[in-house]
Amino acid sequence: MKRDYQGSCHCGAVRFRAALDLDAGTVRCNCSVCAKGRFWLAMVPRDDFELLEGEATLSTYKFGAHNISHRFCTTCGIKPFGHGADGASYAISVATLDDVPPEALAATPVMYVDGKVNAFDRPPAVTSYL
Ligand SMILES: [Zn+2]
Repeated sequence: MKRDYQGSCHCGAVRFRAALDLDAGTVRCNCSVCAKGRFWLAMVPRDDFELLEGEATLSTYKFGAHNISHRFCTTCGIKPFGHGADGASYAISVATLDDVPPEALAATPVMYVDGKVNAFDRPPAVTSYL
């Protein structure tokens, strides 16, 4: 069931609200930036995301085709979310949600995608390290 969550970076300068359904699944990806940042994400449409604080503290990292804005806190370095060029949807870092019990995190389904070879419709051969 979709519900509201509060999220933040480590230092607290960036705070957001996102409505999402953890039972609907989350994603782990092995692409170059997700693997290095250990990004564990849940996708939400723009209307289900609200930045509450911290726009001035956020910076943006783009690479490759520059299609995705990886937003991170310039004080603590944590990446709470990212979004595509059109901003239609947001990838929320599940790890930055502040009010999720560990049992709920453990129970959320995880879909693995092979972003390393741009295959977002199937898992890589090895997923246990992601
Ligand atoms: Zn921060």
